[in-house]
Amino acid sequence: MNPSFQNIQGTFDVLPDSYTADGNRIESSSAWRDVEGGIREVMRRFNIREIRTPVIEPTELIARSVGQASDIVTKEMFAFSRGDTNYVLRPEVTASVMRSYLQHHLDQKGGCQRLFYVGPCFRAERPQKGRYRQFHQFGVEIIGSDDARADSETIFSMIEVYRTIGLRKFKLRINSLGDIESRSRYRAALRTYFQPHVSILSETSRNRLESNPLRILDTKIEEERALLVDAPVLMDYIDDSSRDHFEDVKKQLQSLEIEFEVDLMLVRGLDYYSRTTFELDSPLLGAQSALAGGGRYDGLATEIGAKKDVPAVGFAAGMERLMLALAAEQIEFSDDRSVSVFFVGVGEQASDWVVRHAGEVRRKGVSAAFDLKGRSMKAQMKEANRLNAERVVIIGDDELEKGSVPVRDMNTGEQVQIDMKHLISHLT
Ligand code: AMP
Repeated sequence: MNPSFQNIQGTFDVLPDSYTADGNRIESSSAWRDVEGGIREVMRRFNIREIRTPVIEPTELIARSVGQASDIVTKEMFAFSRGDTNYVLRPEVTASVMRSYLQHHLDQKGGCQRLFYVGPCFRAERPQKGRYRQFHQFGVEIIGSDDARADSETIFSMIEVYRTIGLRKFKLRINSLGDIESRSRYRAALRTYFQPHVSILSETSRNRLESNPLRILDTKIEEERALLVDAPVLMDYIDDSSRDHFEDVKKQLQSLEIEFEVDLMLVRGLDYYSRTTFELDSPLLGAQSALAGGGRYDGLATEIGAKKDVPAVGFAAGMERLMLALAAEQIEFSDDRSVSVFFVGVGEQASDWVVRHAGEVRRKGVSAAFDLKGRSMKAQMKEANRLNAERVVIIGDDELEKGSVPVRDMNTGEQVQIDMKHLISHLT
């Protein structure tokens, strides 16, 4: 077969078995289910409940929340319009969760909202290992509390997902961005600092100097990195209340025995962050090492139309990166290929018998399979092996006549003869 169509570059199919495409290992659908199951299990433990929002959102929502100057909005949105409405395939989910929170007045439900999501996101980035155009994120948003315990709770739930699923090697870095005013003071300080060095700066950084100088701190260019050594650090500009808040967050993390490192250069790209910011990296992922990132975004609600600030904190994590990291740590995923009973039927009558009996076994809740292509006994046995069948029932004209069938235990190789009358109860 010569297929006319291929999946769009930067997207991938998840198949029942894992495979490799463009040098990337794509895990099986059962591995995805396992990982999602792990996430849900941890969320249950933390009493964090699921929210599902549409994958299309108004473009304006994303532009306002993620920030006009961000890479996502300037370069990476899959946006389109129909009539007078502009749509975007969501590049992340926090904006949608906050939109939904405000739209459904979830603030009136009492307490704060503890929400998680799992689902696809879309960014028109250059595809490479660990970076796709359709990828999947899971994340947590705790909305309605400015307490440092909401921050540590968010970080703890994130770490627990990785730990529960089995990942061992990751590193947490945290920082504080202060409030909006402290960031604007810091921006001014950065502009003053970089101004005399403008000739060394790349064009991108020169543009960022105007639009968002904090982004220059993310630079990978050697000469620019050298400049950063003496650059002002944000921590010297943050307000007292944010500083106290940060101290509190650190205390909470310590009391939960969560290891972290304070990284004064961690600023993260999105505009809506304030105060706490954090990132989780894997040492095994090469260039795309970020497993997850997040922080506090107290100003997002007003950015998208709320009358007053709504304190909130959250993280977003990449599922593909998590799966790559698990594979790098050689953690085995389960396989759902196996079947409990395989029926080998030879001859037309036997085939009908197989359909009926496999049906009965399945109705009793036990998995069963049989050949659908009229193949030879040898080919059917091979199929039973491929499916890791625990037991195989072999039936032909002779067995039908005798009223008893051999049942072979595929692990021990032992074979017993079972009276047809007792077969179903024997198998189920
Ligand atoms: P961000 O919203 O950019 O902080 O992304 C949060 C997490 O999503 C990152 O830490 C990555 O694990 C993952 N991620 C972001 N962009 C992509 C992408 N294009 N492909 C795969 N994973 C991604």
